Amino acid sequence: MAYPHLFAPLDLGFITLPNRVLMGSMHLGLEEAKGGFERLAAFYAARAKGGVGLIVTGGIAPNRAGWVSPFSARIKPSVVSKHRLITEAVHQEGGLICMQILHTGRYAYHPFAVAPSAKKSPISPFKPKKLSQKGIKNTIRDYVKAAALAQKAGYDGVEIMGSEGYLINEFVAPKTNDRQDEWGGSPENRFRFPIEIVRQTRAQVGEKFILIYRLSMLDLVENGSTWEEVVLLAKAIEKAGATIINTGIGWHESRVPTIATLVPKGGFSWVTARMKGEVNIPLVTTNRINTPEVAEHILSSGQADMVSLARPFLADPDFCRKAMANKADEINTCIACNQACLDRIFQRKPATCLVNPKAANETILVSKPVSLAQKIAVIGAGMAGLSMAVTAAERGHEVHLFEKTDTIGGQFRMAATVPGKEDFKETIRYFSRQLDLLGVEVHFNWDTNEQELEPFDQVVVATGVKPRIPSITGIDHPKVLTYPEVFNGAFVGKTVAIIGAGGIGFDMAAFLAEADEEHSLENFAKTWGIDRKYTVRGALLQPKPSPSPRTIYLLQRSKGKMGGKLGKTTGWIHRRLLQFKGVKMQANVTYEKIDDAGLHLERKGKKEILPVDNVVICAGQLSENTLYDQLKQAFGDQVHLIGGAKWAGELDAERAIREGLELGLKI
Ligand code: NAP
Ligand code: SF4
Repeated sequence: MAYPHLFAPLDLGFITLPNRVLMGSMHLGLEEAKGGFERLAAFYAARAKGGVGLIVTGGIAPNRAGWVSPFSARIKPSVVSKHRLITEAVHQEGGLICMQILHTGRYAYHPFAVAPSAKKSPISPFKPKKLSQKGIKNTIRDYVKAAALAQKAGYDGVEIMGSEGYLINEFVAPKTNDRQDEWGGSPENRFRFPIEIVRQTRAQVGEKFILIYRLSMLDLVENGSTWEEVVLLAKAIEKAGATIINTGIGWHESRVPTIATLVPKGGFSWVTARMKGEVNIPLVTTNRINTPEVAEHILSSGQADMVSLARPFLADPDFCRKAMANKADEINTCIACNQACLDRIFQRKPATCLVNPKAANETILVSKPVSLAQKIAVIGAGMAGLSMAVTAAERGHEVHLFEKTDTIGGQFRMAATVPGKEDFKETIRYFSRQLDLLGVEVHFNWDTNEQELEPFDQVVVATGVKPRIPSITGIDHPKVLTYPEVFNGAFVGKTVAIIGAGGIGFDMAAFLAEADEEHSLENFAKTWGIDRKYTVRGALLQPKPSPSPRTIYLLQRSKGKMGGKLGKTTGWIHRRLLQFKGVKMQANVTYEKIDDAGLHLERKGKKEILPVDNVVICAGQLSENTLYDQLKQAFGDQVHLIGGAKWAGELDAERAIREGLELGLKI
């Protein structure tokens, strides 16, 4: 069997999980939406059908103080029947599902926030109220009630969220707990809150109910737990009645990336591996496990008993089914961009997935076979064209894909050359495999030939974008390069100015600053100050990044924050990385000219010359749509325009893939 460790059953004594894959908790933003439970039911059922061993829902608050934000999901008797929609849908597909109980503590984004001590977090404007002793006991009671209601709703278990800096974690770590009573001070006192929750929950729900405890094994904040404390707590949690211990890595306020693309694959499973042998219940490891190969390696090398994958199940509901059938090359891989999932949640929009817009839209974006197959030409094999071609072919159309270069992927191919974005290649591999499977005929090195398009019923133009070239005196100087030229291998000197600090400007700076760097786990840990020997509380050391081989200036004309438009959950990582590398980020500049001396500009009323070897243009894009105008004249309404060719402003792959899918479903 492919991946024998991944697909080995796991006997929990009273129930056997079919395999070692846990779908980790993700808040989807549907929990609070109108008709959200129906959509959640369809979402989870699709993953159960896809063969995942055990699902954990997004976090559900046990009481009002535990809300993420006002009126966010909370379990109470009146919503039990709604939750039953989810559990029944999952069970019908043969799956198992646990409800996560999450109390946000001082991370709450509302004025009712409570915590062990009245210490404000850096990521919420609300200072929490210190829980009284009675308040603590009531909160424990609310956890227990929440578990009882979950059981009533038909869940197979609960996950008690004890990590990521939420309430339970706040009791455990000295950083956030300076109480002098029986709930603070010694480790025994600080651990009393989680232990009582687990003990009393177990007593309430009986023996045959899965109780997962998500344990913060690596806080990555100052004054977090020591390793000895983590082990002590794990043993106590086992004794209190947990069935499984899941791994939590980093607090939300931690300034170390834990799930972004640049985190090496399986980059935190070493933490769970340290815990092996300390407890007798199964251990789940997590973070940046996005392929069956990585998962199998972790399990076969004995680092954990199960693996938790969350976002990979947004990207592909059939991850397990495909892996089990030895068809891993058909998996739509999560590229850890956070763009359409976590970043959307922070914008208070429902999550979906950049590479799979159907995620969490299972009842809306439905693919139905066509009654009358048409012959469709798609021009351009970037993300929009690929998404369109695959969707239309899947529905039964005869699709031909015309591409002017000798390869597919468009702008995504360039992104894949950026250090830490290597996973972007997986999306190209996924589409390439789908084209093969669906019999899409691909015509490479295609030179526009209108006659060739005549036999087609529909023509879709997805010709993408071209770089915007700003009108600066000397822009045609030999030292000026465009970003495609650099990503495609042009030589770049030791001193560089980058014009434009959007997503691509930042990527370019990282590309030039990290050119020869080894992307190993050791280097990642050193760069971000992760103490793999666990010698200090929270396992956090001073970052020791290696220096950039180049002097780099990253420039923008506007006054705002550099990288202000980057993703909420990843922008800080890009900015911090460039600060580590000594990249000189300058806003509010006016470009004057480029000549042999370098780039002349004005900043804060002063004229300057940056003595650079090269100037790299990352000033956004313009639509490449001349072909559309030409074809529209020739063929009229049967010509369609999608992706960057339609609108280059804020072009991103998310919109390109979604537009391709939407047209493919409609045509
Ligand atoms: P962008 O985000 O629109 O940034 C273009 C930059 O060029 C801006 O900083 C702009 O800043 C500058 N600019 C615009 N017109 C200019 C002109 N005429 N002269 C000089 N400078 C000019 O575009 P992008 O960087 O090409 O990225 C395109 C899209 O790709 C983004 O929207 C993003 O969604 C996506 N992307 C995202 C990531 C990511 O990490 N999330 C990475 C890569 C790409 P000023 O006007 O202030 O100078
Ligand atoms: Fe993964 Fe990006 Fe999809 Fe989120 S949006 S699930 S990070 S590919």
